[in-house]
Amino acid sequence: MTATAPSSPHVMNTYGRLPIALSHGRGCRVWDTAGREYLDALGGIAVNTVGHNHPQLVAALQDQVTKLIHTSNYYHVPLQEELAKLLVERSGMTNVFFCSTGLEANEAALKLARKFGHDKGIERPEIVVYEKAFHGRSIATLSATANPKVQAGFGPLVEGFIRVPINNIEQLKAATANNPNVIAVFFEAIQGEGGVNPMHMDYLRDVRKLCDERDWLMMIDEVQCGMGRTGKWFAHQWAGIQPDVMPLAKGLGSGVPVGAVVTGPKAANIFAPGNHGSTFGGNPLAMRAGVETIRIMETEGLLANAATVGQHLKDALARTLAVDIAAGGVKEIRGQGLMLGIELSKPCGVLVQRALDAGLLISVTADTVVRMVPSLTLTRAEADEIVAKLCPLISQFLKENA
Ligand SMILES: *Cc1c(COP(=O)(O)O)cnc(C)c1O
Repeated sequence: MTATAPSSPHVMNTYGRLPIALSHGRGCRVWDTAGREYLDALGGIAVNTVGHNHPQLVAALQDQVTKLIHTSNYYHVPLQEELAKLLVERSGMTNVFFCSTGLEANEAALKLARKFGHDKGIERPEIVVYEKAFHGRSIATLSATANPKVQAGFGPLVEGFIRVPINNIEQLKAATANNPNVIAVFFEAIQGEGGVNPMHMDYLRDVRKLCDERDWLMMIDEVQCGMGRTGKWFAHQWAGIQPDVMPLAKGLGSGVPVGAVVTGPKAANIFAPGNHGSTFGGNPLAMRAGVETIRIMETEGLLANAATVGQHLKDALARTLAVDIAAGGVKEIRGQGLMLGIELSKPCGVLVQRALDAGLLISVTADTVVRMVPSLTLTRAEADEIVAKLCPLISQFLKENA
């Protein structure tokens, strides 16, 4: 490494940071303050949907800054109407609440669920959540999260959660049997931080059916897997089902903080004025970023690109790592579109620094899973470059740790 970390005497020590600082980017390339170039396979953790420094997004944001950045929700915000309409049309759902981050979107979903219960006369509503889930780091969302490392030191946790394993409908039925307090099921269609674990299509359909039978809200956290990442607007759409509540954030504003909760008719009228709100939520700058992100995705065909380049990348990884797959060092390559994970047989956090040294930005999540969530503009050539940089590092790592 030539770049050195900027010292942080005043920024709170909440992240284990890599020893570089990025200065600018274009598409899927970024450069650090020492001038070194990297291929960005992380996309700001599934945030930079249209790539860095997209000319159309930059121009739209510049234009918006000269008009209004923020007004508060004391007034109508026409751009909220515009972005809500775009999200409703693409999801087939009906209404949207805007906030600024993923945890806020999930917090709103949890509040919706609890009030849904109270409105039915259930005083101690309970929500089903999942093993390996990640929903954020507020007190409520870290309680819904499964990872004990996220929860450690922050108890007492919020009560009213029932935890079940993913992709097992019988266990879901058993865990909720004869419990009239259950009011919602809450999960990621593809778990992100938990290691890129997809919910099976059959399971999604079975849960939808159960939610209908028992009058539960089906709440799908699409904060990471949504906004075109899998090749459809929303990951659950591959199963041909529709949730009642869908939190969004990360990729929605291509880097400008935007969160949203999209609801279907069953959850659209739970909140009334005074029940929920956010000072920044839905401000004109954030809304413009969301509207422009969706426009760019459509004019550039980024859903189709995510699907085809993602499949190309997945296939190329599987081919190149075939020996390591056969030997068991690579346990599985999974995910869909441009949300991919490579699970190794051993904790492999060191690969993040090694990839950085090789000019590639990735992350390792759930200790053993190399994760790629690049901009949806990733080209085939860039996908090939990821494979060429990453696979030798994985093979070498497995050899050292055999
Ligand atoms: C990142 C993430 C969150 C939290 O989003 P923040 O914007 O960091 O609060 C919630 N759910 C999922 C699935 C995520 O990937």
